[in-house]
Amino acid sequence: MSGIPSRERRRVMAGNWKMHKTHSETRAFFAAFLPMIGDAAHCDVVIAPPFTSIAAAVEAAKGSRVAIAGQNNHWQMEGAFTGEVSSAMLVEAGCTHVIVGHSERRQYSHETDDIVSQKSRAALVAGLTPIVCLGENFPERETGRTQEVLSQQFIGGPGALTAEEFSRILIAYEPVWAIGTGRTATPEIAAAAHRFLRQCVRDQFSPEAAAGVRILYGGSVKPDNIQGLMAQEELDGALVGGASLDPRSFAAIVNAK
Ligand code: PEP
Repeated sequence: MSGIPSRERRRVMAGNWKMHKTHSETRAFFAAFLPMIGDAAHCDVVIAPPFTSIAAAVEAAKGSRVAIAGQNNHWQMEGAFTGEVSSAMLVEAGCTHVIVGHSERRQYSHETDDIVSQKSRAALVAGLTPIVCLGENFPERETGRTQEVLSQQFIGGPGALTAEEFSRILIAYEPVWAIGTGRTATPEIAAAAHRFLRQCVRDQFSPEAAAGVRILYGGSVKPDNIQGLMAQEELDGALVGGASLDPRSFAAIVNAK
């Protein structure tokens, strides 16, 4: 155990659609998905469609408890940044959350820990809840550098926020080797990483911050492994890629107790 007393932390089930689903596909998803999750009273449900489908998702989710997230934001509030979207634009479009620092953006768009902290701050200023992603890649795990990498990503990213800012974010531990690969971390591996991250939070902020922060696990979460993962007290929910695209499989994940 981490020695950090757990506090009641409400589960969050978030879907990241990446570059999938048009307007009409988004409407069809919600028409099938919402009746399958009922009021989903035991958790928060978040879906991150691509920018062009946010309006359709917000409209379709109206009256439900499903929150809509952006998949990315810019670190500036506005300006000459062709192709980018600001946090305020996401808020006006109806988003309440935004994914920050996803490994695909770190890899393909060269986002650094500093950019991650700046984007998180911009999101918070606009009133969004950032879901800040971090995680080691396969060579880093294989060479025993997982904790070093997590600590570095934490300190340079969410750990660079103020304590007040930090109290308003979610963290997603996403080992890169498990994303889109079908290789889920075992519940024990995931829990150990979450415990370590909670320790980082305690060292940087306080025992209260460590006990309160919600840390989601992401990496090949599926209906058939969600129960084992959620049985770990350290895991406060999941960030789901591939399995969130199908209404039936994401509903099964959301409904897991
Ligand atoms: C993700 O992209 O955040 C993710 C966890 O993807 P997948 O569930 O497909 O591994």
